[in-house]
Amino acid sequence: MRCPFCGNVDTQVKDSRPAEDNVAIRRRRFCPACGGRFTTYERVQLRDLVVVKTSGRREDFDRMKLERSIRIAMQKRPIEPERIDQMISGIVRRLESLGESDVPSKVIGEIVMETLSRIDTVAYVRFASVYKNFQAADDFDKFVSELRPAVAEE
Ligand SMILES: [Zn+2]
Repeated sequence: MRCPFCGNVDTQVKDSRPAEDNVAIRRRRFCPACGGRFTTYERVQLRDLVVVKTSGRREDFDRMKLERSIRIAMQKRPIEPERIDQMISGIVRRLESLGESDVPSKVIGEIVMETLSRIDTVAYVRFASVYKNFQAADDFDKFVSELRPAVAEE
């Protein structure tokens, strides 16, 4: 695994342990060239998902984007980070289990909202209020940027 700081390819694994209720392996890595430390996660990927937007545009599903939007909605909420990781893995697992590689963006939004509504009402309301605009805009980056100010108001 290449060092994200200096680009050295010869990094070492210092520690590996199960994470997110055993659905992931968390590895602490060390770069002997620059002394940098970073963490990687290894997860099962059942299938490659493609997000189909309402405009018909397709793009590869990006777990990091999903994670970013959920973490913003969850900001300052009394939820353990580990619990959020589990929640995200659960959502991805559900998406992978739908049986289709093509997943409409609408379905993803609905699954996220349903999950958030069970875990944290405030995060759910944040996400849902922005999601309405998002469906019209059909643009995830815009979605995330709209979510951010709503959180900052507190
Ligand atoms: Zn390095």
